[in-house]
Amino acid sequence: MLKQRPYLIEFLTAAGLIVAPFVLPWLGFAPNTVNRILVWGLFGLGFDILFGFTGLLSFGQSAFYGTGGFVAAYLLTRAGFPYVVLALVIGMIAAAATGYLIGLIALRRTGIYFAMITVAIAEVFFFVEFNPLSDFTGGENGLPGVPTPSFNLGFTTLHFTTGWSLYQFLALCYFIGVVIALRIVRSPVGAVFSAIRDNPLRATAVGHNIHGYKLTAFVIAAAYAGFAGGLLGVLQAFMPPDAFTFDTSGQLVMQTAIGGRGTLFGPLVGAAVWLSLQDFLQAALGLGAAWKLVLGIVFVLLVCFLRRGIIGGLADLYRLLTGQRGAKEPEESAPEVVAVASDRHAAAPAAKTPAPRRREGSASGPILQARGLTKRYGGLLANSDIDFTVNHGELRGIIGPNGAGKSTFFKMLTCEVHPTSGTILFEGRDITGMNVTDVCQLGLTKSYQVNQLFAGLTVRENLVIAALSALRGKFKLDLFRSIDSIPGLTERVQHTLELVNLTSRPDTPVSELAYGEKRRLEIGLALATSPSLLLLDEPLAGMSPRERVETVKLLKSISQGRTMIIIDHDMDALFELAERVTVLQEGRVLVEGTPEEIKNNSTVQEAYLGGVHGVLAA
Ligand code: ADP
Repeated sequence: MLKQRPYLIEFLTAAGLIVAPFVLPWLGFAPNTVNRILVWGLFGLGFDILFGFTGLLSFGQSAFYGTGGFVAAYLLTRAGFPYVVLALVIGMIAAAATGYLIGLIALRRTGIYFAMITVAIAEVFFFVEFNPLSDFTGGENGLPGVPTPSFNLGFTTLHFTTGWSLYQFLALCYFIGVVIALRIVRSPVGAVFSAIRDNPLRATAVGHNIHGYKLTAFVIAAAYAGFAGGLLGVLQAFMPPDAFTFDTSGQLVMQTAIGGRGTLFGPLVGAAVWLSLQDFLQAALGLGAAWKLVLGIVFVLLVCFLRRGIIGGLADLYRLLTGQRGAKEPEESAPEVVAVASDRHAAAPAAKTPAPRRREGSASGPILQARGLTKRYGGLLANSDIDFTVNHGELRGIIGPNGAGKSTFFKMLTCEVHPTSGTILFEGRDITGMNVTDVCQLGLTKSYQVNQLFAGLTVRENLVIAALSALRGKFKLDLFRSIDSIPGLTERVQHTLELVNLTSRPDTPVSELAYGEKRRLEIGLALATSPSLLLLDEPLAGMSPRERVETVKLLKSISQGRTMIIIDHDMDALFELAERVTVLQEGRVLVEGTPEEIKNNSTVQEAYLGGVHGVLAA
C-alpha cells in the first residue's frame, strides 16, 4: 500500500489530525490527554524506526528525551532565549549529537547486551541530571516557566497556549514528524533498516555497512526523542525531571508494543490506550496507584494475543476480511517438496543476468589466488596450507568428505573468518583480513549452505536489499530519496527474479515460500549484488533429485560470463557443471583436475569410498 498510493497515509494522517478535536471530546478525551498522546506519538515515531524497523530495542530513550527537553527548556527559561521552535530544534540537535556519541558505544554490542547498555545509559543520564547538572536542570524541581509558541505574522500574532489551541501546534509537529518518518522508511536506508532487523548477518554479507546504518537509526530516534522532550516542557509549561527516568523509556517500549511496532503509528495508538486507561482507572474507578496492576494485565493479554499490537492485529483482520493472506511472524519453515521449476528459466539468456561488477570480456588469468591458507581452531587444523587459484570465467567445483574444511575455506575466501596464516588475492588485490562487506563491494560474495534470507520481507524486497548495495555502495545517507527513483534497481531485481525463476512470486513473503524457492532466492541474493566471483556453498542441499536437475540447469545459465566456485556433495551434478574440481581432505588439497581426472583418480576414490575403485567413474 505504501508504494501503490504514496501519499495516502500522509493524507489520512492530516485528515485524522484535523477531525480529532471534533471527534475525540465525544469519546471522553480531554484536550490535555490528546496533547500528551501526540507528544508520546512523536517520541515513538523515532523509537519505532529504531525498534520496529531496525530491530534495536533500546531502553535508554529517556536519556535523549530528557536531553532535548532540558536543553530547550533551559534556553527558554534560564537563558532567556525567545524563540520556542528554534529552542526545540536546538534541543533536538543536542539530543541527536548525544545519540551519536552514545550510539558509538552502545552499538558495539548486539541483542540483550545492547539493551542492557541502554538501560545503564538511561540511569547515568538520570543521575547526571539530578546531581552534577542540577544548576542547569533544576534538579528535582525541574524547570518551570517554559513558554508556549507564538508566531508574529505581521498583521496578527498566532498564540498556541493550552488545550485545543496548543493541539494545533502539536498536531502540526506530529504531522511533519510522520511525513519525515514515512520518507525515511520508504528510502533505501529504510530498506536496509528492515534488512538489519531481519538478518544482520546477511545484510552485512550483501555489502551493507550495518554499523553505520544502525547508528543512523539510533541518531534518528534520539532526534525525535529530543524534539518530543522539548514539546513536553512546552505542553506542561514546566520541564519535569522525570522525563529522564527509566520509567519513561519503559513506558515508550510498552506503548509501542501495545500499538504495534514497525507501523509508525503504533506508539501513538499505544499512548492513547495507556493514557486513557490511566485516566479511566485512576479517576473514574479511583484505583489510584493500583491502576498499573490492571495495565500490566492488559499489556500481557495484548502481547499474548496480539503479537503485532493493535495496528498489526487490525491489519491482519483487514487482510482476513479482504481475502488476502495474513502476514506472518518471520520464521524459517522446514524443508518441503519444492515446486518444480520450469525449463524456461534454465534457458534464460545470459544477457538477462545482472552484469558482474567487473566485466570479464577481455579479463584472463587468475581472479582469485590463495597462498598457504591455514585456519586453526585451537588444536584443530580446519584448513592447512592451501594453495588455490581460480581463473576468470572458470567454474570450479570443490568436493570433499564432511569435515574436510570446505565451508571454512569458503568463509576465509569471503573474509567471514580470517586465516591463521596465508594470503588471499582477489583480482590482484590482497583481501586478507578485510571484512565481508568490503569484499562483497569488491565483487566477491557467496550463497549460504543454510538459507540466510530476510524472512520478514517479500521476495522482491529481499532482492532489492542485495541490489541496493551494488548500486549505492556500502553506506549512503539518502534518507529522503524514494527507493523507486534509484536508476537500474527495478531492472536488476527483475532480471534476478527471472534468473532464479521467481517471477511469479515477487510479492510473496519469504515465510510463505517452498523450500526450493527459498534456495533459489538464496542464490538470487548473491547474484543481485553482481559479483564477479560467486561462491555457492552446497546450492543443491536438501533438494529432491528432480529439483537438482532443474537447479543444475539454472546454475549453468548463471555461470555464463561469470566466475563461480561451487561446493556440493552431489558429485554427479558437480562433475557436470565444473570445468575443474578441487578435492579437499582433512583440511588439505588432495588433488585437483578435470572431472574426468578426478573420477578416475584412485586417491580420490580411496578418500571417498575406502578404496572401492571405479565407483566414482561408474
Ligand atoms: P566441511 O564444510 O568440509 O564439512 P568445515 O569447514 O565445516 O568442513 O569444518 C572443518 C573442521 O573445522 C571440522 O572438524 C569442524 O568441526 C571444524 N570447525 C569448523 N568451524 C569451526 C569453529 N567455528 N570452531 C571450531 N571448529 C570448527
